[in-house]
Amino acid sequence: MKRIYNFSPGPATLPESVLRKAQAEFLDYGGTGLSVTEISHRSDTFRRIVENAEGNMREVMGIPDAYRVLFLQGGASLQFAMVPLNLFGRSRVADYVDTGRWSQKAILEARRYGKVNIVASSEDQDYRSIPVVRTDRLSPDAAYVHITMNNTIHGTRYSELPNTTAPLVTDMSSCILSERCDVSKFGLIYAGAQKNMGLAGLTVVIIRDDLTHYCLDTTPTMLRYSTHVESCSLFNTPPCFAVYFAGLMFEWIKDRGGISAMEDRNREKASRLYDFLDSSGLYAGIAAKHDRSMMNITFRLPSDDLTDRFVREAESQGLTALKGHRSIGGVRASLYNAMPLEGVQRLIEFMDFFEKTHSKS
Ligand SMILES: *Cc1c(COP(=O)(O)O)cnc(C)c1O
Repeated sequence: MKRIYNFSPGPATLPESVLRKAQAEFLDYGGTGLSVTEISHRSDTFRRIVENAEGNMREVMGIPDAYRVLFLQGGASLQFAMVPLNLFGRSRVADYVDTGRWSQKAILEARRYGKVNIVASSEDQDYRSIPVVRTDRLSPDAAYVHITMNNTIHGTRYSELPNTTAPLVTDMSSCILSERCDVSKFGLIYAGAQKNMGLAGLTVVIIRDDLTHYCLDTTPTMLRYSTHVESCSLFNTPPCFAVYFAGLMFEWIKDRGGISAMEDRNREKASRLYDFLDSSGLYAGIAAKHDRSMMNITFRLPSDDLTDRFVREAESQGLTALKGHRSIGGVRASLYNAMPLEGVQRLIEFMDFFEKTHSKS
């Protein structure tokens, strides 16, 4: 068996040890004689899986007691609707910061249910940076302020949070658990699991207690946070295997020294690649330096033709899924928690080799 280095933005690379553990337990989970995929979500076995996953996530992320952790479905994309459907009961106005494609999708969805003010945007810079949010632009009556913490497509991230009085809501799909995070600064955090928490099909929502009671009257039962708070994420059949797998991911983070160790490794991986980009004559980083993502590193080569060759040759060297998002082109290397430093080192060696061969021709 030969595993290759997978730089996909998501579903993304997973730790081999976690995949092996899931494989070893697949046919007979904990001596039950059953697979996790076969047991009732109402069983004690599954209840323990959910409780352990939540406990480990709380521990790893340092989630305060005043917050609920919900295991939901529908991806981050459903949260684009659930957030306004559940918070517009406070007031029917929200402030959004536009930092690219995912923010725009969130904005479009929120506009169906209330008034959305774009309080800052980096559209005029092709989303290469994170805009400054001026306090005087914020709506005094906003139910919440929404930001996309890490912009998966453009390769930017917030290094400083905007100062708001309304609760801060954030899409953390592509950076959750990648660095230290003070959860108490947020009213609500949501993230799809398929980038840093395992499998597609699970969405994690971390919500402050007091924000679970403001849904619009027309919000369907299944889309109310209160429904899932009251049923401890077992209102209907949850994505059982994805919840189990996320639990393995949280344990893996704990075993590797927790979130601060993850952050240190991620910082090392990203800075090696950025340092190489900055010293190169062929590659040019896309994101503004002060707003660079540690998870999704975007860069360009001088032509589309050379970019295609780069992606193809990398693939043949066992470095896969490096093609940039179709909306911006170029190259994107996603370095989630599970990408080992050796993978980044191999990529840099390949890039160096490619640069030397192609600057001669
Ligand atoms: C991947 C991603 C999404 C989309 O997530 P789905 O789970 O496919 O709905 C949304 N926001 C960000 C920041 C992402 O990286």
